[in-house]
Amino acid sequence: MVCIVDGCSEEATLLFTWAWGEEGACCNAHRTTLESKAEQLGRGISFAPLGSDDTPRKTYGAPTLTKLSPEVGALRMANAELHERVSAVERELAAAQERNQALLAELAKLEDQVHAPKTSEDRAVVKESTESAEPRREAPSQPAKPRR
Ligand SMILES: [Zn+2]
Repeated sequence: MVCIVDGCSEEATLLFTWAWGEEGACCNAHRTTLESKAEQLGRGISFAPLGSDDTPRKTYGAPTLTKLSPEVGALRMANAELHERVSAVERELAAAQERNQALLAELAKLEDQVHAPKTSEDRAVVKESTESAEPRREAPSQPAKPRR
């Protein structure tokens, strides 16, 4: 098993695993290269010693996985995280809409309460105006139209 880093023909001594599950093998010298890459991507990487008779089948499958560049792996992970965040925001939005509906219903109730005394006041005003209008109504009836 040779180090996966391009141009390196050293025998791999470490098995590494990216935060998104991708695995590979590298030499001791390239551990720091991969660690700085992980730091650059803001993603974790873990290393385990690659024993000569320790999981040879697993490392044999690694080359197919390493076709995926770390950048792509990190982007896929970021994408998955964004999808999670979007669904979290959607849940928050649904809850906020529900709260909004409840508040609107409460507001409608309060408006009814506010309008109820107002209409009785209006009725009082109407009563007053009809009372005061009564003599006024009589007034024009008294001086009858001069008949010809
Ligand atoms: Zn190497």
